Amino acid sequence: MCGYRAGFFRRIDRWSPPLIIFRCEKCFFQFQERRTEETIHLYDEGYYTGQGVYTYQDERQNKEPSMAVWRARVRALQRMERSRGPKRWLDVGCAFGGLLEAATLYGYEPYGLEISTYSGGYAQQIFPGHVWIGNIEEYTLPENFFSVVSLVEVIEHLGDPLKALQNVYRSLQKGGIVLVQTADMDGLQARIKGASYHYYLPGHLSYFDRHNLASVLRQVGFSRVKFIGGVEFGLLPKLVKSRASFRSLWDYRHWVRITLYHMASKITIGPWHFTSSMVMIGWK
Ligand SMILES: [Zn+2]
Repeated sequence: MCGYRAGFFRRIDRWSPPLIIFRCEKCFFQFQERRTEETIHLYDEGYYTGQGVYTYQDERQNKEPSMAVWRARVRALQRMERSRGPKRWLDVGCAFGGLLEAATLYGYEPYGLEISTYSGGYAQQIFPGHVWIGNIEEYTLPENFFSVVSLVEVIEHLGDPLKALQNVYRSLQKGGIVLVQTADMDGLQARIKGASYHYYLPGHLSYFDRHNLASVLRQVGFSRVKFIGGVEFGLLPKLVKSRASFRSLWDYRHWVRITLYHMASKITIGPWHFTSSMVMIGWK
């Protein structure tokens, strides 16, 4: 990422084959030496239905509660972006298009890019002509076009995140913003867990921390970069979303855990960031 040399860092043995993690000696960027294309097979139907080795929830099962989070997210970014042109939102890794539905409610023209034909094909039916299937590292996007480009838990899946961010930068209008949500590998949670940190996954090829992610965004050209511990929206939508899976009153104890985590994620004292969840915003 920064052009310096990297060496072997750690082996994650709970996966077969084990994951081999390299780390830059200067900026501490961690990565698996694989290209994004080598992992595409991971994102077929099994990824969304829980049948795959390694899975992600199908947001359509949980749509109304997820909408609370997506709407909060759109409102927060709408307050931050400064683009003057037509309001257009690109969600990279849009899956079934949930976030785009929320963006539409707030006046954005929705666009999606998705590497999985399974989920992206569904989004194409909802937003005809506005959802493209492809890889953000090389997909040809219109230039100076979007007001907001969101990458929610996407960048860690990329073998060449630098190329992806350069592509995103070109596609943004002046004053437009990029949102990158990923794990902060320098957060206390990641540091304490070490090799057992749950974020080490076969499809996660790139592992940033708040320092090197901010640097790479500046390197790409973003004029202002802002780190946000946790997420850029408030606690309430998270509580609303979690409640959807509650089956009894006793399940409300999870609200205590979620609230404490939310509060901890906001604490950054000197070199310490108390959780490992982060959002980085870059202004063009
Ligand atoms: Zn480096």
